Parts: sequence; C-alpha cells; structure tokens
Amino acid sequence: MRRLPVFFVLDCSESMVGDHLRQMEDGFQAVVRTLRGDPHALETVHLSVIAFAGVANTIVPLIEVFSFYPPKLPLGGGTSLGAALDALMAEIDRSVVKTTPDQKGDWKPLVYLFTDGHPTDDPGPAIARWNSRYARRASLIAVGIGKDTDFSVLKRLTENVILFEETREGDFSRFVNWISASVVAQSKSLGEGLDSQTLPDLDERFMKIVKDPPPALADVACVTLVGRCQKTRKPYLIKYERELQDVATLDFKFEVPIYRLTGCYPLDEDYFAWSDTRVVDLKVNTSDLIGAPGCPHCGNATAFAVCGCGKLLCINGPEEATCPWCEKQVTFTPRPASEDDGFDVGRGRG
Ligand SMILES: [Zn+2]
Ligand SMILES: [Zn+2]
Repeated sequence: MRRLPVFFVLDCSESMVGDHLRQMEDGFQAVVRTLRGDPHALETVHLSVIAFAGVANTIVPLIEVFSFYPPKLPLGGGTSLGAALDALMAEIDRSVVKTTPDQKGDWKPLVYLFTDGHPTDDPGPAIARWNSRYARRASLIAVGIGKDTDFSVLKRLTENVILFEETREGDFSRFVNWISASVVAQSKSLGEGLDSQTLPDLDERFMKIVKDPPPALADVACVTLVGRCQKTRKPYLIKYERELQDVATLDFKFEVPIYRLTGCYPLDEDYFAWSDTRVVDLKVNTSDLIGAPGCPHCGNATAFAVCGCGKLLCINGPEEATCPWCEKQVTFTPRPASEDDGFDVGRGRG
C-alpha cells in the first residue's frame, strides 16, 4: 500500500499564544474527523506534526489517520523557520519510503506550513537546500496567518502561499475544512491514478493566494513578556497587540502604534525548552504598553513588577517579595504618578 504522507509544520511561537494555538489544536480534531470519514483518505493518508518556535521538533511521527491522536501544541520564544525546514527535511528522509527499482515508494508528500511572523533565525541555507533537493519531491503549501507574516520568505519556498485572515467568527473552522478538503482531494486524485496536485477553490472571504508579497511592516505586531509567579514560581506570558492610533494636529494627521494588553497566559516549564536560548537584547518601554494584567497562577493584582535583575514577577501591591528568578529580596514601594514615565523591560522574540 502506497501511503500519502502529510506533514503539518506549525509555528508555535509566542505570538500564537491564546486563540491561535487553541484553534490549531481544535483544527486537528476536525481534520482527523474528515479524513476518517473518507475511504480514500483513511486508506492512504498518514499524518505527521512538526512544531517550531525557537527550536523545531517532530511531535507526531508519520502515522496512519486511524491511529493519529491530535497533540497538545507547545509554546516557545522565537520563530526559527530555518530549523523548522531542517526538521521537515530530516523527517522526510527518515519516514518517506523512496521508490526504487524493486518497490513503489510513498506518494509525493504534502506539506502544510503555518506561520504568523518573521523568521528569527537565518532560513537562507535551509531554503536553498529545500529548493535544490526537496521542492520537486513534495508539494508545499505555506499559510500565513494574518498580514504580519513575512510573505516574501514564504514565496522563496513555494508558489502556493496563502494568506489566511479571520474576519468573522468561524472563519478558522471554515479554513480547517478547506485544509481537510485539499488532503481528501489529493488522496482521491491518487486513487484515480492522477499524480497531480490541485488545490480546492479558495474562499476569498478569508483566504487568498499571495502573488506579490506586501511590504513588511516596520513595527512589530505584538509584544510578549515572560514573568514568573512569586508564589507558585510558574512562568506566564503577557501579550500586547499593536493598534494604530490616529494622532491629529492642526497641520497634519498620522498614525502611531500603541500596544494594548490582549491577555496573560499561564506557561508550562517546557516553554524554555522550546525557546531560542541565544541572548538577545530586545527592549520595550513600558509607557508604550496599555494595560497591566493580574497573575494567572495566584491571582496577585499585578503580573508586571520588575526586579532589579530585569525579570518580571507578580505582586499584590507595594510589598516585600522574593524574586522567583534571582532569589533576591525586593521591596516594592508605591511611585508617585508624576515620576511614571516608563522604564525598559526585555521582550520576547515573537
Ligand atoms: Zn502569581
Ligand atoms: Zn530578580
């Protein structure tokens, strides 16, 4: 039996925290449900999942649809697209059966790559290797989630670059249905002896083929900060998203970006294992950030207290605290509002 290998390569970087990651996890349930209901797909399709943030790893090795169990997705700092492609190529080498004079190998693999950001490593060498040795042997569909994706880097990988943008409730599940349909269509065309790759029609309301990549935006789409709970020592992630604010004077009008709080999410300790450990010095001034969350672990009033070591912790108002990062005693005193012109904190790589 010739298999149709399908690889999902998923961006699990900080900017995906919250809705996007949960929607991806739910999306797998829906894809698997559809594939199990289709006789061609059930027979031929095998699925594999590779996740990437600061590092990339296979989290589900190639397995038949029948035995596939949707994984819990990790979260980490960084968007190492080069590492993701290296992991994909290694997985293809390891698990896809090649055609030889003695045996019919697997069908041409399908790859769905999802990302919402800009690479934080140098993907150049991996892209070159993909194009010279793998591009003809696999069909790659690259999906950018939202306009802040670096589409020009995706265009260097494949002609099939799709922008997905959620404009209404339910668009993500409609999009997941499209993914399932494209896998089913592929397995059907194999059943009919066609080895060609055709994409089902796109629903233009929330997805379109990217022909000319739009210029990348100068400022970052979101700012993320990592802290630790003083009481439980568990990590959390604070996320701010860019909003453009109109500033008008008598003479002219322009837009300035501000970053508004979208949420504070509890993290697992494995966040650090999925993060890029290279030291970077990305700073953000707190006066650009609107809103301060409470601690998602212990309910302390603010998750936005900064220790002398530069790390964030939660406190419940002016008090003595032990920093869960450096173990020093810190005293937080109230500050008069007049002195409050912001200070710099280290931010994540996105
Ligand atoms: Zn706490
Ligand atoms: Zn500290």
